[in-house]
Amino acid sequence: MPMTPLEELRHSCSHVLATAVLRLFPEAKLDIGPPTETGFYYDIDIDRKLTTEDLARIEAEMKKVIDENQPFLRKEVSREEAAEIIRKIGQERYKLGRLADIPAGEAISFYQNGEFIDLCAGTHVRYTSKIKAYKLLSIAGAYHRGDEHNKQLQRIYGTAFATREELAQHLERLEQAKQRDHRKLGKDLKLFVIDDDVGQGLILWTPAGSIIRQELQNFISEELRKQGYSQVFTPHIGKLELYKTSGHFPYYKESQFSPVIENESLARILKEGCSCGEMMARLEAVSGRLAEQVNQRTGKTTIGPERVKPDAQLLDGFLLKPMNCPHHIKIFSSQPRSYRDLPVRLAEFGTVYRWEQSGELNGMTRVRGFTQDDAHLFCTEEQVGPEMIGCLALVKVILTTLGMTDYRVRVGLRDPDSAKYTGDPENWDKAEAACREAAKTLGVPFTEEPGEAAFYGPKIDFVVRDVIGREWQLGTVQVDYNLPARFDLSYIGADNQPHRPVMIHRAPFGSMERFCGVLIEHFGGDFPAWLAPEQARLVPISDKVNAYAEELLALAKAAGVRVTLDSHSDKLGAKIRRAELEKVPYTLVLGGKEAETRSVSVRSRSRGDEGAMPFDAFLERLTAEAKTRALPAKR
Ligand SMILES: [Zn+2]
Ligand SMILES: [Zn+2]
Repeated sequence: MPMTPLEELRHSCSHVLATAVLRLFPEAKLDIGPPTETGFYYDIDIDRKLTTEDLARIEAEMKKVIDENQPFLRKEVSREEAAEIIRKIGQERYKLGRLADIPAGEAISFYQNGEFIDLCAGTHVRYTSKIKAYKLLSIAGAYHRGDEHNKQLQRIYGTAFATREELAQHLERLEQAKQRDHRKLGKDLKLFVIDDDVGQGLILWTPAGSIIRQELQNFISEELRKQGYSQVFTPHIGKLELYKTSGHFPYYKESQFSPVIENESLARILKEGCSCGEMMARLEAVSGRLAEQVNQRTGKTTIGPERVKPDAQLLDGFLLKPMNCPHHIKIFSSQPRSYRDLPVRLAEFGTVYRWEQSGELNGMTRVRGFTQDDAHLFCTEEQVGPEMIGCLALVKVILTTLGMTDYRVRVGLRDPDSAKYTGDPENWDKAEAACREAAKTLGVPFTEEPGEAAFYGPKIDFVVRDVIGREWQLGTVQVDYNLPARFDLSYIGADNQPHRPVMIHRAPFGSMERFCGVLIEHFGGDFPAWLAPEQARLVPISDKVNAYAEELLALAKAAGVRVTLDSHSDKLGAKIRRAELEKVPYTLVLGGKEAETRSVSVRSRSRGDEGAMPFDAFLERLTAEAKTRALPAKR
């Protein structure tokens, strides 16, 4: 695909970056430098850890390269000539491999600007001086070819825009994003914790974060009940055989969660013995299977001292569940079903575990254990359309309530040229038409994406744009013809014959962890009253009104308000600032006058100073605001 003018500009900037890097660090080995969605990067291999000071130096050197107004010159060469050039410039380490990637018969080209020459298919701007607005942003580790077995290189990220104004706007957005980062806010507002002793990618919800999650779950559950879902609970593990039937094992084997056991310590326990006979026998069995696995994997006949990730399910035939579907299927199939029972809609906040690479973990949005807002619908062929519409309507209600009104949907269809799809083509046509129709009912833009369907059915995903313009892919509504067949599900139709139901999987928010992470950033920590861990704070001006403050505290608690009393002896200004930093929606200031008139002086985060009002009236307003799940007023 040809580059857009902006991509061309950004990619040219990555050549300028590489030019500057080699001027300052001639020993650096270069890998690749493509444009990205919002800028560009270049991966370099250098024996020193680059610092922000280095970035500033590189950026200054880039300015010189741009001011030299170097033309980008293309040179097409044979494969042999290409290898020779690469050797001559001392860039064999990665560039020879990149040269080998170019398929036979395809043109091999270099681009030269000034003294710098790079293996590249193009395209570029004509002169370096076309680059007017650019900035280097950060340095991150990146494995060569994204493979953690390879060396980790240093990736320098930057961005470039056609104009300085656009660049300034982009930098402003990045700054806002930093302020809203859920990892930062999660820490500042004490919403969640990740502790190395528990494990990376495992979220510990603090009391404050748990309130947000519980309120969200209550809200979603209420909507599910309105839509005729039944809530179920299922355990965290299931037999390995279950996942063989479902096809999740070994299909998802690599991403399945399994504990890390050090074989050395295991061997030590076995040798030194253990007071508990049962434990001993168990460990022996485990060790035998482990040895088998490791030896199979490595082709060696002894267990090495290296840490291996044994398959947890082989420890005793159980697997931590990577999906909730098989458990729900077993609830469906636990009794005979008639067409009159359908659709059966089973919902669960179901916790699942998947083994993500540690480099991919990110706060709450990429984790190893998470609770899906999951549900499985079992329906007839004819019900697929209406059920899809119902699923989407539910998502719409929830997103609207949260003020996430800027979203689009993607309809994933099958690739017409591929034969990998399971199920009858006629049913596929019907299901795809149903997805398309369902997407239309939302009244938001949608795109059809051929080839994006799973092999077992078409799907719809939601892409939400937040207040600062970033897009978040949330969960999916997915039609499935595969699992009902694998588990041989059936219902008795009006014709008294058995029929195969269709399944719909839907976890529209993906997981509570990810969704809360997105919400923290969406609200920038300023949660609406119904979600705010602390809805109101009482701030007495002096000790003289303590009795009044205590009385209001009791009244507010009795009314179900999440309220605290700031009884520190600080000055009023300090107390108000603290409440502001902690983003409490309402701060209620109490002095002698308020005590006399049974009122409170209200400072609202969204509306500012609202002056005094009777306490009863305030309480009524706040409880109504929380009950209706109102959004904060815009200032
Ligand atoms: Zn290039
Ligand atoms: Zn499922």
